[in-house]
Amino acid sequence: MEYLRDTSINSGDRVIVRTDWNVPHTETKVTGSSRIEVSLETLIYIKDKGGISIVLSHFGRDGESISPAFDFFKSNYVGLFSNIYLVKDPFSNEGLEIINSLVPGDVVVIENIRLWEEEEKNDDAFAQKLASLATLYVNDAFSSSHRKHASIVGIPRYIKGVAGFRFEQEYKKLSEMFNPEHPFLFILGGAKFETKLPLVEKFLYIADSIFIGGMNAYSASLLPISQNPKVILPLGDIKALDINTETLEMLAPKINNAKYILWNGPLGKYEDGYVEGTQKLAKLLGDSDAKVILGGGDTETVLSGIHFKHPFYFTSLSGGAMLDFLANGTLPGVEALT
Ligand code: ADP
Ligand code: MG
Repeated sequence: MEYLRDTSINSGDRVIVRTDWNVPHTETKVTGSSRIEVSLETLIYIKDKGGISIVLSHFGRDGESISPAFDFFKSNYVGLFSNIYLVKDPFSNEGLEIINSLVPGDVVVIENIRLWEEEEKNDDAFAQKLASLATLYVNDAFSSSHRKHASIVGIPRYIKGVAGFRFEQEYKKLSEMFNPEHPFLFILGGAKFETKLPLVEKFLYIADSIFIGGMNAYSASLLPISQNPKVILPLGDIKALDINTETLEMLAPKINNAKYILWNGPLGKYEDGYVEGTQKLAKLLGDSDAKVILGGGDTETVLSGIHFKHPFYFTSLSGGAMLDFLANGTLPGVEALT
């Protein structure tokens, strides 16, 4: 896999940048901007080389317009780029006119890529048409790279494809989990254990212990591995809506002893206010000297807005793609770049 940092870009080159700007939002406004913010490093790098970025991302559900994300980007970063445009249809005369008139340092954002049904179908002709807009493809959407979609796996069949800065960081930091320092503790909370079973089965080999909490702790799918000596379960009522103090006290010395910790999944039904246990766990993890990597869509949500004294070693913003990557060691979007 080649990284953008090692790729040469000439002034005036057009570069397709697949970002994940699918951020939390209301009808008009972005309410959580992390995923937009982490794409800046790549876009600024391209601008500094005199390149022109053509940004592709999906956004929201059911044919929503990307305009909240575009408005956020434009109003916050207008000074960083030459011009910032939104193009509804890059294949229309109007769209092509804008694209052909771009100058070094410009950014053009294409409307929600999933408005084209060819995107999710991974339509080859569509991918080729997109590829014809540029000479280089940068995937900076690790969090969408578990999807075999045209903008993820299709475009780099036609033009050179490299990994952007955030993609590189997610890839390298999460890959450390395959060869961790020991003791390595895996903390798994959340729900839908069936979907996480492949991950657990793999990490039963890699980790020294796995704590399984949240709704997973009483899932029927847990039975086959619940006798494994590496598996640790909550103390007391296993169906409790939050993790109890007893269990946190039992975990504390294991957390302090660990060199590496991977954490996915809240430990309480946080939507109904059961956030205390998860926050206390986060504090224990923040105070430990272990390298803590955490991620997961709900894990992000429940921790966002909390300020921690020590930053975590790495907070993945890849949600479900993180789980797939950890379980399989690769993703379709990674393969497409190799
Ligand atoms: P992530 O998105 O971080 O991977 P999951 O999607 O696996 O996390 O799990 C999040 C869900 O798990 C939330 O809906 C939360 O309410 C639920 N959950 C976590 N702990 C409990 C619990 N003790 N009882 C009931 N639901 C729980
Ligand atoms: Mg989730």
